[in-house]
Amino acid sequence: MKHNFGAGPCILPKEVFQEASQAVIDFNNTGLSILEISHRSKEFEQVIQEAEALVRELMAVPSDYSVLFLQGGASQQFAMVPMNLLPEGGKAAYLDTGVWATKAAKEASKVGQVDIVASSSDRNYTYIPKAFSVPSDAAYFHYTSNNTIYGTEVFEKPHVNIPTVVDMSSDILSRVINVSDYDLIYAGAQKNMGPAGATLVIVKNDILGKTGRTIPSIFDYQAHAKAGSLYNTPPVFSIYVSMLNLRWLKEKGGISVIEQENIIKARTLYDEIERNPFFRGTANEEDRSRMNVTFVMDTPEQETAFLKLSQERGMVGIKGHRSVGGFRASIYNALGIGSINALVDVMKEFEELSN
Ligand code: PMP
Repeated sequence: MKHNFGAGPCILPKEVFQEASQAVIDFNNTGLSILEISHRSKEFEQVIQEAEALVRELMAVPSDYSVLFLQGGASQQFAMVPMNLLPEGGKAAYLDTGVWATKAAKEASKVGQVDIVASSSDRNYTYIPKAFSVPSDAAYFHYTSNNTIYGTEVFEKPHVNIPTVVDMSSDILSRVINVSDYDLIYAGAQKNMGPAGATLVIVKNDILGKTGRTIPSIFDYQAHAKAGSLYNTPPVFSIYVSMLNLRWLKEKGGISVIEQENIIKARTLYDEIERNPFFRGTANEEDRSRMNVTFVMDTPEQETAFLKLSQERGMVGIKGHRSVGGFRASIYNALGIGSINALVDVMKEFEELSN
């Protein structure tokens, strides 16, 4: 048995894979594959409408927000956000908590002025800066709620009194949030929502259309909202599988139930990292992510040996990101506590073998 700790694309529930594989052969007894039906067909319309309804229900999205399924990944949002929200001559405020936050700010700086309000680059992004102020004349404040590479997470929305945009690519649907605290939320699907291809955007309608810019339609949220995410051919399969996964999440009891599981999973792994003398967590304790658990060992030889042992025991995807090294166990919604326990067992086994 494999335990997939990959950072994304990553594990999804087995039931979802099974149903999706059936739909590739014959979608809902139509005699057609999900891969060959028209995105304008009645059948797909039902799929995208259900996907949107499930996002609205599970996240309690207020009615004055649009829920969009777009393409281009979170990286396209790095550009779309300023194109849609940053007026000519205006500026935007960004919090720098790692590679993705830096990239988001860099793309925004191609559109207008960017103020970096704080950065944790001084300690290789192992913590979340807390004391910073945001210029009140900035058009919006942008931050990354979960830093996939460094294993840090922002659990409480920073107190700012300007519109707030958040990249939730790696913690969307993993914990309860209050959508109305935000003006725009975006996330690539390929962690907690579904397979790579779709990007979820939840945007408050009345912040749009105010920049005075001419935006190419494909990058214009209003064009996508007006067309119900069918401005052009959407990523049909990714949206379909996301819909199945959202159904799975609802059947489990919704986000508050999965959040409790995620808390226990993360605690189990962090407890072992703290107890076991061979491992050390890299993230500041109060900022430790519940989705990506990062840790290191004392020597490269130990890391090579542990990686080998863990692979022999079925662990997949625990090598750290190339920019930080060490290990990263991504423990998204669909990864069960059984896999966490299996990893903890390998850590204990390593300790025993080394003593
Ligand atoms: N933001 C975060 C927090 C991410 O983890 C990632 C990808 N892992 C991205 C943005 C980039 O996403 P994409 O590959 O969908 O463009």
